[in-house]
Amino acid sequence: MKNNDIYNCLSIVNVKNKLGLQEIHSLGNIIYVRCPFCNSTNGAMKLNTLNNSYICKDCGESGYAIGLYAKNKYITNKEAYIRLIKDSCEVEDNIRTSIVINNKKSNEELDDVYRIFLNLLTLNDIHKNKLLKLGFTLEDTKRIGFKSIPTNENTKIAICKKIIKNGYELCGVPGFFQDQRLRWNFVSHSGIFIPVIDNCKIVSLRIHLDKMYSTDTSDIWFSSNNKYNGTKASNNIMILYPEKEKIHLIKDNRNVNNIIIVSEMLLAYKIHKQYRDKIVIRSTKCNF
Ligand SMILES: [Zn+2]
Repeated sequence: MKNNDIYNCLSIVNVKNKLGLQEIHSLGNIIYVRCPFCNSTNGAMKLNTLNNSYICKDCGESGYAIGLYAKNKYITNKEAYIRLIKDSCEVEDNIRTSIVINNKKSNEELDDVYRIFLNLLTLNDIHKNKLLKLGFTLEDTKRIGFKSIPTNENTKIAICKKIIKNGYELCGVPGFFQDQRLRWNFVSHSGIFIPVIDNCKIVSLRIHLDKMYSTDTSDIWFSSNNKYNGTKASNNIMILYPEKEKIHLIKDNRNVNNIIIVSEMLLAYKIHKQYRDKIVIRSTKCNF
């Protein structure tokens, strides 16, 4: 099973089809359906195919795809997750809508840009020490590619210029945007970049913030959806396969004990390092 299949299985479109939610209409990345909680028939429930969330404006029920499936099947989120990835998925709508609204570059192109970008950055001593204290070795930090996020505006603009000079476009790469003078720049927060890998490619960057963000998380996406010429990061689920077993492990009859679910990317890398024979999945905003 490829990672894409897993994303499709866990997508809100697959959940909608599995639950047989009646589609009222759709617009861009939003599908309006009959709400399974209050049964309002006017399409009060909005499914967002970009971030896999749902909300009903009539009864206020909201959450994410896995939770929607779990609540309707009266099972736990973890059970829902396992059922969804075991079963075949039905997501033709998803493919259609994502072509229309998604101007994100392909994984190959994102990998090229993020690699050169990370190469231009360094890991400062404060972050290095922080990672060492968390149990990573210096070798780990290099192998995984942790980097400190620059926050000086001139430095950031100069880095973007270098990427462009090397022949890469920043349009369609989450995290990058153009400022009022149309210079390319990127979103920055004081913290550490963590590469998110899919099929050996860096497909997005996760930010581990130095300070907690809005009291409940220190982990956010490198995304520029609300900026000029910016791009939204997908809500990726990261799967770090055990080194020898690779991809087919997840296709077999899964043993729940072999799946460890963690909420933070740094933690995912850390646990992966300790349990090489197990699967670590990083899921966003799913309360397992
Ligand atoms: Zn409702």
